[in-house]
Amino acid sequence: MKKAILICTCSFACPSLKEINFGELAERVRLELPHDYMLLHPRLCEANGEALLADLVKKDGVVYLTAACKPEKQWKLFRDGFQKAGVEMNEKVVKPVWIQFKNTDQAFEEIKKALEELGK
Ligand code: SF4
Repeated sequence: MKKAILICTCSFACPSLKEINFGELAERVRLELPHDYMLLHPRLCEANGEALLADLVKKDGVVYLTAACKPEKQWKLFRDGFQKAGVEMNEKVVKPVWIQFKNTDQAFEEIKKALEELGK
């Protein structure tokens, strides 16, 4: 399975993500963590993000690690985008990671941990 990392930056404006330097996070992830590709989007839960998911998400062979708000929220917010891609959003294809209220190092560690769990 390929591993795709989708990072939602919440418009770079959400107070709950203000301690994350997304440029630094993305570059560290790119250089230090095993994955196939990564994408940053400012608002994955809105129409433009949903359109991206609908076009991007593949039916087979990829697991998506989504780094964004609370996993409970992610299951609801991303469901339609996955559905439009013809993919049922479930634990087999999506691994939500909660990066709110974390700094850059902590967000990196959360993504790293989730990738390790996917590798098991
Ligand atoms: S998916 Fe979550 S983190 Fe991303 S823009 Fe929507 S509310 Fe913010």
